[in-house]
This record gives sequence, structure tokens and C-alpha cells, in this order.
Amino acid sequence: MSLSQVLPEVPPAERAPDAAWADEVRALAERRNAVVLAHNYQVPAIQDVAHHVGDSLALSRIAAAADADTIVFCGVHFMAETAKILAPDKTVLIPDARAGCSLADSITADELRAWKAEHPGAVVVSYVNTTAAVKAETDVCCTSSNAVEVVESIPADREVLFLPDQFLGAHVRRVTGRENMHVWAGECHVHAGINGAELTAKAEADPDAELFVHPECGCATSALYLAGAGAVPAERVKILSTGGMLDEARETRAKSVLVATEIGMLHQLHRAAPEVDFRPVNDRASCTYMKMITPEALLRSLRDGTDEVHVDPELAARGRAAVQRMIEIGRPGGGE
Ligand code: SF4
Repeated sequence: MSLSQVLPEVPPAERAPDAAWADEVRALAERRNAVVLAHNYQVPAIQDVAHHVGDSLALSRIAAAADADTIVFCGVHFMAETAKILAPDKTVLIPDARAGCSLADSITADELRAWKAEHPGAVVVSYVNTTAAVKAETDVCCTSSNAVEVVESIPADREVLFLPDQFLGAHVRRVTGRENMHVWAGECHVHAGINGAELTAKAEADPDAELFVHPECGCATSALYLAGAGAVPAERVKILSTGGMLDEARETRAKSVLVATEIGMLHQLHRAAPEVDFRPVNDRASCTYMKMITPEALLRSLRDGTDEVHVDPELAARGRAAVQRMIEIGRPGGGE
């Protein structure tokens, strides 16, 4: 047996994201009349080369308003789908279509239809981390910034089906006191590692640190739940959207801040306030799906026009109505 039959195949080395790579990305984007959008959880090189960095809803709104013919969405698949829903006439590319989301995958459209059949007349409220097919079965989408207001806008005698995030659902039920609200048992498995014991230990070890909790991610919704349940003193906990987190970073007097969200966010926080010591509550809280968008994949996407995101027009129209209702209620913030 030869050595090559024994050893696993070694994938070709990824090209390092150097200045030449960045120049090539920008030149290809210009040639294609493309705008490159990067989610806050992307690797730093992609955040730095993108035209816009932000959270999913803010980026989708930028996509819809952009002059560009092509949107290259460096994020996970449901986010690129939401951009396509809001900008149906544009070409939307994601550098690797395999970049999914365990939270969005925790409920399918078939499962939702079966759940609706068990509760005829119920109003369906879906967190923005859902597929286009699930959004099409939804009455109103929400972000965690406006989830409470969305549920409060529904007449008290109507049942509510809330999905897919059980932590956000538990938080909304606690705040609204609503008993006729059913919550789907979904979660972000990537961040199941952020737990009460870890939060409490980190907060106790650094009693002067503030805690920034970003509520639009599976990891952070569990942190939100724990903070609300008193695991960490309330006055030190700041529940903030991504934009709010960056604003607060510039304002804070704290020397150190514990950050409960995906670790990619730390790059933007360090840039916003280099003098503050930002530390992750869980330094393993890295989304493997987000990190599938590599610098090489971005280059390939711009060069070859891959992977194009398609959403059935009829599904898109129904999903768009649910997303538009979300935007009209309260302050939807930015999504994950
Ligand atoms: S961090 Fe969790 S919720 Fe966010 S994209 Fe990754 S898997 Fe989905």
C-alpha cells in the first residue's frame, strides 16, 4: 500500500488574506458591480474588506437599498435568503451555501404546518433566524429587540406560537406574563456552551466588569435568560443590539467588559474602543457556519458568481409580508 493510500487527503492551503487578496476582492467587486456585506461574526479579514459590516437585518436593509447589481452576503444562509426576500431583483451570492444555522434548522416548514394544525387560529411569531420557507408560514417575524412588543401587539385572547428559540421565547413569556403562548424547543447548538455557571464565575472573578449581552443570537438569548433570572447582578448587565453594543463600547467607563455573544463581535468592539479590555464569556463561542465563509471562498464567489441564492417568488412574497410587519412594530434593532 502506498503512503498516499494511507494518509487522508490534505486540502489545498487557504490563501492568506493579505493586501493583494484585499485588492483583488475590491477589484472583482467593482467589475461585477457588487456590494460585499459582512456579518459581525465573520473573520476579521472579511469584516475589514467588506463595504458594510453589521447584523443581519441592517445588512438586508442595506442590500435592498443598494445600487449594486449583486449582493455578496458573507454570513449564513438564512441571512442571504432574507436579503433576497427584501431585494428580489438583485443577484444575491453567498460564498459558501453550506453555511447554515443550527437555530434556523431547528424547525422546518412541515413541522410548523403540523404545529399550526394543532392550534388553529394561533398567531405565528418567528424569530428572524428562520428559513424563507418558515417565514412564508409566519404571520409576523421578530428580532429579540422587538419580540416583546410583537407579542404584546397580538390580541390577548389569541394563542401565540413562538419559534424557534426557546430562550428568547422563555424571556418573552416571562416579560409579558402571557400564558397562551407556546414556545418551540429550538436552540443554537453552537453556543450551548454559554451557561449560568460560566457567566456567574466570570462575573464573580471580575466584579467591576460590565456584561454586554447581545440578544439576537442563540448563545446570547440563553445569556439573556440567565441575566433575567438573576444569575448576574442586573445593574451590570446591558442587553444590547450590535449597534447598541458598539455605542455603549464608546461610552462605557468600565475598564473591562465581558461579552456574551459570538467571538467575531470582539473585532468590532476592539476597533470601537481600543482602551477597553473586552473579553468573551466563552472563548469557544465561535460559529462554525459563519467561519465557513473563508477569504478564499469570498474571492471565488466574486470571480465565479457562486453560490447564488434563490427563493421561490411566491414564498418570498409571503415571507416579505412577515418581515415587513416586524419592521413596523417597535424597534426591531438589527436581527442577529
Ligand atoms: S451563532 Fe448560532 S444562531 Fe447564529 S448563525 Fe451560528 S448557529 Fe445560527
